[in-house]
Amino acid sequence: MKSLTEYLEFSTKTRRAYINITDKISSLVGKSGVKEGICLVNAMHITASVYINDAENGLIQDFDDWLEKLAPHEPVSHYRHNRTMEDNADAHLKRQVMGREVVVAITKGRLDLGPWEQIYYGEFDGRRRKRVLAKIIGE
Ligand code: ZN
Repeated sequence: MKSLTEYLEFSTKTRRAYINITDKISSLVGKSGVKEGICLVNAMHITASVYINDAENGLIQDFDDWLEKLAPHEPVSHYRHNRTMEDNADAHLKRQVMGREVVVAITKGRLDLGPWEQIYYGEFDGRRRKRVLAKIIGE
């Protein structure tokens, strides 16, 4: 069995960001040499997500608007979590909705994604260093 473990780093300039990481993950699959297997990609922080959806600007803004309606950042005093000297309760809730990880099949040496599927890093409490784990296993 072959395996590859890599850590991607992110430090976004904005509090929230949506970054397409499909090409990065595809190149790791190539580097791994795995032809048939599984690729796990997960956010290592509880205020960020990895998810799969369409790479379309309107939709990305729709996700952001929807998440802000579900769990608005302001007023920060609205959340119990923020009584612990933090201001990121909304980011914990947004991460929970958007998910922690994705698992993608590798077929014939490539990510076996659907026609419009793209892998995204969703940041909800940025402006600091965060990591994403990619683990690829197979033959
Ligand atoms: Zn927190």
